[in-house]
Amino acid sequence: MTAKKLNILLIEDNPGDVRLIIEMMGRAEIEYSIEHAGTLSDGLDKLRRKTFDVILLDMNLPDGNGLDSVPEIKKVSPKMPIVMLTGLDDEETAVSALQLGVQDYLLKDRIDRTLLLRSLRYSMERKRILDELAESEEKYKGLVDNALVGVFKTNIKGEILYINDALVRMLEYGSPGELIAARALSIYRTPEDRKNLVDILRKSGKIDNYEFEAVTKTGNTRSLLLSATLSRDIMSGMIIDITERKQMEETIKRQSNHDALTGLPNRVLFSEHLDLALSQAARERHMVAVLYLDLDNFKEINDSLGHAAGDQMLQAVSRRLKTCLRESDTIARIGGDEYNILLPDANNENDIVTIAGKLISAFRKPFMINSHSLHTSTSIGISLYPHDGGDAETLMKNADAAMYDAKKQGRNNYRFYSPAMNARTLERMKLANRLRGAIESGELVVHYQPQVTLDTGQVHCAEALVRWRHPEKGLLYPLQFIPLAEEMGFITQIDEWVLRAACAQNKAWQEAGCASACVMVNLSARHLQQPELADIVTRILQETGLEPRFLGIEISERTIMQEIEMTIPSLVRLADTGVRFCIDDFGVGYSALNYLKKLPVRVLKVDKSFISGMTSDPDYKTIINAVINLAHSLNLKVVAEGVENESQLAFLQMISCDEAQGYHFSRPLPPEEFARYLKPAC
Ligand code: C2E
Ligand code: MG
Ligand code: MG
Repeated sequence: MTAKKLNILLIEDNPGDVRLIIEMMGRAEIEYSIEHAGTLSDGLDKLRRKTFDVILLDMNLPDGNGLDSVPEIKKVSPKMPIVMLTGLDDEETAVSALQLGVQDYLLKDRIDRTLLLRSLRYSMERKRILDELAESEEKYKGLVDNALVGVFKTNIKGEILYINDALVRMLEYGSPGELIAARALSIYRTPEDRKNLVDILRKSGKIDNYEFEAVTKTGNTRSLLLSATLSRDIMSGMIIDITERKQMEETIKRQSNHDALTGLPNRVLFSEHLDLALSQAARERHMVAVLYLDLDNFKEINDSLGHAAGDQMLQAVSRRLKTCLRESDTIARIGGDEYNILLPDANNENDIVTIAGKLISAFRKPFMINSHSLHTSTSIGISLYPHDGGDAETLMKNADAAMYDAKKQGRNNYRFYSPAMNARTLERMKLANRLRGAIESGELVVHYQPQVTLDTGQVHCAEALVRWRHPEKGLLYPLQFIPLAEEMGFITQIDEWVLRAACAQNKAWQEAGCASACVMVNLSARHLQQPELADIVTRILQETGLEPRFLGIEISERTIMQEIEMTIPSLVRLADTGVRFCIDDFGVGYSALNYLKKLPVRVLKVDKSFISGMTSDPDYKTIINAVINLAHSLNLKVVAEGVENESQLAFLQMISCDEAQGYHFSRPLPPEEFARYLKPAC
């Protein structure tokens, strides 16, 4: 700056003084130019047209009296350094001029070259510093204003002393003035919120990353993070808007804690709520109830109408269950069709019974899904804190055990947990483990039950029914272990073993010269879903040497609902080789009659409940008659299952039922006993 040429504007009306100044400057070693104005207005004119570095201003001008000249000049050039030239008697006024922003003053009587030059240099230097300061202030202001960081200064009373634009924008005010007028308090949700903050600051003088919720001018809520210090009752600090980050965190938390389909809490969140409820209950000494709900026939709905309808059903069920509960209760979906409910402050068992009853009744009305009116029900298991467990895991496990029990008791009801249920669960686990090894250890056996052709009285077929010779429990029937094997996932091994045993047995009878009968084997849903089923059956037939026409496969009507669509082609291939297919338990499932056309079925086996029911309810007779007519019109044979007496047989004969099976003819028998039914007997 000093190396630069110095442009001076001298505003002085006294020609003598003008000359004096110019003379003094003439001998200055710095490069300069000097321009003279005789009046203030002339000086202002020059100032408007040209840039100067400094003004030498006479105190007494014809058109500018004393201090009045200074603001006039500042109006035109606010940052222009001014050095006052004044007479001795004006010194006091000159001091006031300094307060107006004049850089220096020189007494005309005492002025000399050194003084003049020094004053000019100083005023220049001061201006440079001021310029730089202003520049950096500007820069800083820009930074602060454009930053996402809000900066503020308030006093302890809540009067805003400074706020940057970012904070004004953050709080949705139109201008800093608007926010200043509203005062600091207006951004807090409650006066207590600000008081808390001030209390912390008073105690420790500073606060870091303090999270709070602010209310914007338009009434929106923003999550803010504040760091501030308090010094001499002035609070200053920074604020960051973390609303989006919080929302994102919330979403992520929600997604990991909620079930995407129903929007209900998932198992993780349920356990958290339960933990909280338990610690509260421990303090306040009250009960907590955990309800474990499972829908009774969801699988069938899902299988028959498809997953999309199943999903809608689960959503509808969630909505309906919610209407039975209070705000403070938690309902979570913890698995396929399983829900957990937490009643955090149950008073007594009667209250819980009332709620359980309400939940069960909620299923009375059908659900409308895709214009289907669907009925479902729920089985509920209940465990209570502190009686049935002290922690979340135990309570959930015990409620689950109670739910199983409710299912066993005929579904659509509720059961309170009892320790015996756990003993039963343990028993089931032991049984499952043992069953796994039962095939290798030769504990499974097949019994055969004759199917009699009603025209001739001949045994036309034998149904192979598995039994388990349990070393301690004696002979177990399929219902005691088949569902367990299905659940544990090893039913296919059992089915394959029965299939092989039955084929081998039939071949053995044939080889022993007995009359040929076909053997009917039951296959589980899981087996029928396997695409390689046809290959497995073909291989077993080859290995045992049995002709395909001597084998039949029974598929329960319930199974048909379970997406065997994929395997239909392989079933057709098998049927083409001569294997006969029979729909078992016909009439109890959701009869999807179109399957009768799609599947290569040759036989319908009417469920035994129709046969047993016809004695007490004549409607059953009508149904059986209709089924027989339907089957015959589709060219299918009909077997009546569970025939126990003469009158049932007489009716079936009358309505032209083709075959019958039941205790009236024989119970299922071990192979050596069954052989006598084959004519010629073996
Ligand atoms: P299902 O295929 O409907 O078999 C008929 C069931 O009715 C047999 O029960 C049979 O003993 C019983 N039954 C026969 N006649 C009468 C009667 O006159 N009155 C009464 N009340 N019942 C009669 P079981 O042997 O207990 O088998 C039950 C079910 O277990 C079978 O029903 C079948 O679905 C399944 N099952 C049997 N063996 C196997 C197998 O090897 N694999 C698979 N996956 N399931 C099997
Ligand atoms: Mg059967
Ligand atoms: Mg059956």
